[in-house]
Amino acid sequence: MKPSLLPSNSSAVTTISEATVIRTDILTSKEALKKTLRLRLKIGEEFEYQPGDSVSVYCQNEEKEVEMLLKRLNVLDKADIICQIELMKDTKKAKAPIPLHIPTITTLRTLFTYNIDIREPPKKAVIRQLVEGTTNPQEKRRLQELCSKQGMGDYTSFIRNPEISILDLLLAFPSCNPDVDRLIESLPKLQPRPYSACSSPLKTPQHLDIAFNVINIPEGDGRSFARQGVCTGMLDRVTNQNQIREETTEDGTNTEIFQLQISARPNQYFRLPSDVSIPLILIGPGTGVAPFVGFLQHREMQKNSAEFADQAFGEIFLFFGCRNRSQDFLFKEELMRLQKVDILSKLYVSFSREAISQEDPKYVQDNIKSNAEQVLQLIYNQKAVIYVCGDAKNMAKDVNQTFMKILQEKKEMTESEAKSFITKMRLERRYLEDVWT
Ligand code: FAD
Ligand code: NAP
Repeated sequence: MKPSLLPSNSSAVTTISEATVIRTDILTSKEALKKTLRLRLKIGEEFEYQPGDSVSVYCQNEEKEVEMLLKRLNVLDKADIICQIELMKDTKKAKAPIPLHIPTITTLRTLFTYNIDIREPPKKAVIRQLVEGTTNPQEKRRLQELCSKQGMGDYTSFIRNPEISILDLLLAFPSCNPDVDRLIESLPKLQPRPYSACSSPLKTPQHLDIAFNVINIPEGDGRSFARQGVCTGMLDRVTNQNQIREETTEDGTNTEIFQLQISARPNQYFRLPSDVSIPLILIGPGTGVAPFVGFLQHREMQKNSAEFADQAFGEIFLFFGCRNRSQDFLFKEELMRLQKVDILSKLYVSFSREAISQEDPKYVQDNIKSNAEQVLQLIYNQKAVIYVCGDAKNMAKDVNQTFMKILQEKKEMTESEAKSFITKMRLERRYLEDVWT
């Protein structure tokens, strides 16, 4: 597996490695609302990572969707002809370079499959190009509205929020026939998607695990067909025949099935402290638990190694949340095993769709609240580090609010004192977040 140096974004050169998917586990039951997959990737020796880091997965657009778009753009007959991409001689931007993500020798199908993001809601500048290529006066007027200053509200409601793609828009405006070459220039680069490693290089140096929900986006609100997330959909499709549901701890491997391109995405601010005696408070509902599985496996290896033989290890509390204990309790067996071998000191799980009475913890923050004394004891007396991973929009905000509340209630702080306390913890790197919207 040779690494290759390829430009990944305009300012940095990223080392891209090949990884083979050697095993795919479905971590959820058939009844679960979302399907969660864990992929085991065979990595080469050159691929270095630490628990807390993510790995970027390079993805491709779905074949069928690309075909539909090429057809709608009236270029299907030319889609597989090798072409050379050049700057137009009469362009106003005479010195403009060809964007780095556009290969100069390619085919239209390759370009629209691997290089261009065809899902991102078209920016207003793209809609302006569509206006130019539209013949029907009513359609032209509507597109003009959508990219005008006055149409800002409509743009947000009808394009941005429902995440309308360029193909959705072209299907809704049949008289629009934009210049393909200008579209290629304007549409954004297809970006790789990051996933937290949920394994430890100490435990399994030859492979790395990632876990994710397969995103299903329904038809409607302007979306002309149901679709999956670009990357999670691709990973679901290519592993479909080899997905295993039974929970098993054995290290069985599938036949080598699919090669992925990946690159390391280190996060030096979301690592285990080098001092193993520092207690950890880990908060990760849903797939937010992924990096913590890596943390715990790493600690297990450290605890069993001669290097740390005389060291005292700090306690580790994990707050995990899912909907239902029999449907989406991700990594259940592994977490229970880690608790049994005394790596994980406390495992608090909240089941959001099982909570019946008001007293039942619904979310991770409810369990933090009901165990506030122990949590604060770790924070105050033992300088514990808090790690939060997962959804930024609601969960991470609510968890922060909960810490504010328990500091006010249990430590008699004012709101502003509680806020300063958390800010200080953040500055000391004792309140760490790896969150995503
Ligand atoms: P995309 O094609 O990018 O589509 C996602 C879009 O679909 C979102 O904008 C969302 O708003 C929209 N969408 C989703 N559901 C619906 C719906 N029902 N209706 C309408 N729109 C909808 N994710 C993980 O699962 N596990 C991880 O370990 C993980 N680690 C991450 C680490 C980092 C540092 C970061 C930044 C992100 C991480 N993510 C993780 C998120 C991950 O990178 C992807 O963003 C995610 O998997 C979606 O990718 P996709 O290409 O499948 O979806
Ligand atoms: P999920 O399955 O949607 O939800 C997991 C649990 O969280 C459910 O029980 C849900 O309950 C509950 N929940 C909903 N709102 C909450 C709130 N305000 N506070 C606390 N819990 C709440 O979660 P997910 O999709 O796996 O993961 C969340 C996000 O994190 C995803 O977008 C994923 O891409 C991202 N992620 C990021 C990283 C990273 O940045 N490193 C790593 C992993 C995952 P109900 O549905 O019953 O309300």
